[in-house]
Amino acid sequence: MTKITVAKGDGIGPEIMDATLEIILAAGANIEIEEIEVGEKVYLAGNTAGIAKESWDVIRRNKVFLKAPITTPQGGGYKSLNVTTRKFLGLYANVRPCVSLHPFVDTKHPVMDVVIVRENEEDLYAGIEHQQTDEVIQCLKLISRPGCEKIVRYAFEYAKHYGRKKVTCFTKDNIMKQTDGLFHQVFDEIAKEYPEIENEHWIIDIGAAKMADTPEAFDVIVMPNLYGDVLSDVAAQIAGSVGLAGSANIGEECAMFEAIHGSAPRRAGQNMANPSGLLQGAIMMLNHIGQSKIAEKVQNAWLKTIEDGIHTYDIYKEGVSKEKVGTKEFAQAVIANLGQSPKLLKSVTFAENSKLNLPKYQRKAPAKKELVGVDLFVNWVGKSPDELAQVVQALDTEKVKLSMITNRGIKVWPEGFEETFCTDHWRCRFKPVEGESISKSDIVGLLNHAIELDIDTIKTENLYTFDGKMGFSLGQGQ
Ligand code: NAD
Repeated sequence: MTKITVAKGDGIGPEIMDATLEIILAAGANIEIEEIEVGEKVYLAGNTAGIAKESWDVIRRNKVFLKAPITTPQGGGYKSLNVTTRKFLGLYANVRPCVSLHPFVDTKHPVMDVVIVRENEEDLYAGIEHQQTDEVIQCLKLISRPGCEKIVRYAFEYAKHYGRKKVTCFTKDNIMKQTDGLFHQVFDEIAKEYPEIENEHWIIDIGAAKMADTPEAFDVIVMPNLYGDVLSDVAAQIAGSVGLAGSANIGEECAMFEAIHGSAPRRAGQNMANPSGLLQGAIMMLNHIGQSKIAEKVQNAWLKTIEDGIHTYDIYKEGVSKEKVGTKEFAQAVIANLGQSPKLLKSVTFAENSKLNLPKYQRKAPAKKELVGVDLFVNWVGKSPDELAQVVQALDTEKVKLSMITNRGIKVWPEGFEETFCTDHWRCRFKPVEGESISKSDIVGLLNHAIELDIDTIKTENLYTFDGKMGFSLGQGQ
């Protein structure tokens, strides 16, 4: 018996949750349900997180959370419960299978069967943003080795366990050589541990285009957070199954399972909604808690029901569908099909226990880290980069000198182009002269001198090498 936390959510949430639970219990799911309240009512009662402290205790105790969609009230101040849950519980992997159900559900891609594995905790979603000048705001993109290792290993373990043939990695490491470069490098390292699974890397732009055009070329795709956010929606949409897709959010301790759609308030309380998305989430949950044969039974009964043409309004199509049913009738049809498999659609077979083997991250021995320079960011408005160079070169010392200025990453001094558009946000790179080194005191010295000269420094970034390997990017054009 596994105790799970259930939240019935808002809008169509309660109806589709009741249908989902009825189906999996009828299939023999060995679960005990502890219900909590999250969402609109909790928000409107003045809790801006949409969840009470006691409910967190329940979720953390049970570790497995099946959540129906919730309504985030309009207006400022309400925090997204999904984002908070993912971050607080360290749910690093978002897994979204996108499969087409041709010819029973409309799709342009009849043979699509792709699983998107999206990193869920870091990247540009750290939410660390700063306005530094009148004209420029930055957002920090953080990519960590543990973050990359956990998500890439998850993708390969998932592929191995579910008999998938290939894992593809999407990044933009031709541009972001350090951050996306690390993701790609870790992918190559971990891929070697799975010689039986094919692996490949695509630059995200052409990879995304290929996925949208020829999704049958892909199997499991793993990617950093932002790309995964966008492409998991694209993948679900082109599979024709936004209303039919579920997702899992997996952490080292806890996991949350849900439908990918929202609370569809206009359809609430009418016995109309399609419970399939949440049911797909629940099937992933059953696999996660080791009740894989129950998961298999539910999935095959569900496929059979879709194939039988018993459809809710959202996928009902004259000529294809046989019967238009409500939420409850759909659930009853799935229950009646338990023990049966589809004939045309591909049935599933899950291993006895589909718990993945995911070792905890082992911290590596630290590299030899050496300070080799500093980028001084300056807010400055003037005629030309050459003029700024003159101003900033006043900071040069015997040991440390200005070596380069960039504007939004593009080298503008020395030897810039007049045509390059410049904002008021400049990066001035200082490096030690031949035979010298640079220390943190030298950096403080530069900053103090800048104050005396009325140079508006807005931040510094230290330049390091790690075991001799450059840990920073060059200026574009350098
Ligand atoms: P939505 O997904 O609720 O609805 C989009 C469209 O799809 C609507 O036409 C709706 O009727 C239809 N639809 C969605 N699910 C369906 C189902 N199971 N069966 C039949 N039709 C279905 O998106 P929205 O309208 O943009 O958002 C409504 C609310 O849901 C908002 O408050 C939003 O914040 C919230 N939301 C919650 C989650 C979540 O809890 N995970 C996710 C997305 C949106």
